[in-house]
Amino acid sequence: MAKIKMSVPLVEMDGDEMTRVIWQQIKEILLKPYVELNTEYYDLGLENREKTKDAVTTESALAIKKYGVGVKCATITPNAQRVEEYNLSTMWKSPNGTIRAILDGTVFRAPILVKGIQPYVPGWTSPITMARHAYGDIYRDVEGKVAKGGKATLVIEDENGRREIEIFDFSASGGIVLGMHNTEKSIASFARCCFNYALDVKQDVWFATKDTISKTYDHTFKDIFAEIYENEYKEKFEKAGIEYFYTLIDDAVARVMRSNGGFIWACKNYDGDVMSDMVATAYGSLAMMTSVLVSPDGKYEYEAAHGTVTRHYYKYLKGEVTSTNPVATIFAWSGALRKRGELDGNAELAEFADRLEKATIRTIESGYMTGDLVPLFKSETPAVKLNTEEFIRKIASNL
Ligand code: NAP
Ligand code: MG
Repeated sequence: MAKIKMSVPLVEMDGDEMTRVIWQQIKEILLKPYVELNTEYYDLGLENREKTKDAVTTESALAIKKYGVGVKCATITPNAQRVEEYNLSTMWKSPNGTIRAILDGTVFRAPILVKGIQPYVPGWTSPITMARHAYGDIYRDVEGKVAKGGKATLVIEDENGRREIEIFDFSASGGIVLGMHNTEKSIASFARCCFNYALDVKQDVWFATKDTISKTYDHTFKDIFAEIYENEYKEKFEKAGIEYFYTLIDDAVARVMRSNGGFIWACKNYDGDVMSDMVATAYGSLAMMTSVLVSPDGKYEYEAAHGTVTRHYYKYLKGEVTSTNPVATIFAWSGALRKRGELDGNAELAEFADRLEKATIRTIESGYMTGDLVPLFKSETPAVKLNTEEFIRKIASNL
């Protein structure tokens, strides 16, 4: 069989620990036999980030800007213990944070549904895609304590002059205050990312805030979304047969529970943080969650939602065979290859991505899986636990 060719390179970002091991296996066993892989390779493994003083992370993000699509392996975000373990000259920042800052994107996360693995919410028969605004609010706040008898005031200075708004008079008791912000630019780019992604996958967008209580702050989110939708997306949505739906956050959670899934749930930063974990857990496993960063100008970075699975890696280093789930990393590759195929008019490549995903899902549905899925699997077919490489080879034979 002739291998599928790629005209434009895919930006490949290698990573750390167990996922770095899986990365190689996926390439060798599932991709290279079928595709003449054309990638521009960046090694984001912690050792090379140290060696390049983290320049490699910035270079890889710029390459995504240039070529439009990247696929990223999970990477270590250093903490004090990692600085010691890897003998780092400094505590390098989170690569995902650096890449996000350069691409200015929104992260979309969706579960991979498999027959036999029932969501905890039985009605959720289609995936719910979470879109989390990744800037501002309490993640960039300032906070303080106020002693009894004190007072807290909000001061705003801009071209309209100086305004002082009393927050609270603490004469009866001490207390706490918090100040937070967001920017029109960031909210607008969040809205466009969500609407573009919805057109891409042909799904409705739900967005919710607490605008009845937060009449300026949250209301601004609502207004910016509404304005951009009316002016730039309404017609496109109607043509695609999809909807933009706004409601209050408490109404949204009730509707989400009653829904069958199959839509994009756009969330403010904190709502997205909390609800993503709830939704991921309800669908079964973090190892079955895809993640893609989409920039407002239509650049895509695909990855797995989980980390480098350190505990398994230490076992692997001791020579033990692990049963680490490669599904989210396989779907990062298939997502990126499909997008490359779509952008380059390479139908064969997009079709290969579809087949790879189908083969992966069918392998699990026929009872072959990694250890993490075994306790979740409810089917007539008994579950067979395979190690990572056996599982990948099983997928290859189905492919
Ligand atoms: P993690 O790597 O996601 O793993 C946490 C636990 O979840 C694992 O110990 C394992 O549980 C289970 N798990 C996660 N992925 C799995 C998979 N594919 N197959 C089977 N089980 C899986 O999170 P972490 O241990 O908190 O973080 C490890 C490193 O990853 C850290 O250095 C962190 O900085 C980094 N990280 C990177 C990213 C990213 O690059 N996007 C995201 C998160 C974390 P059991 O041990 O019980 O089997
Ligand atoms: Mg969280």
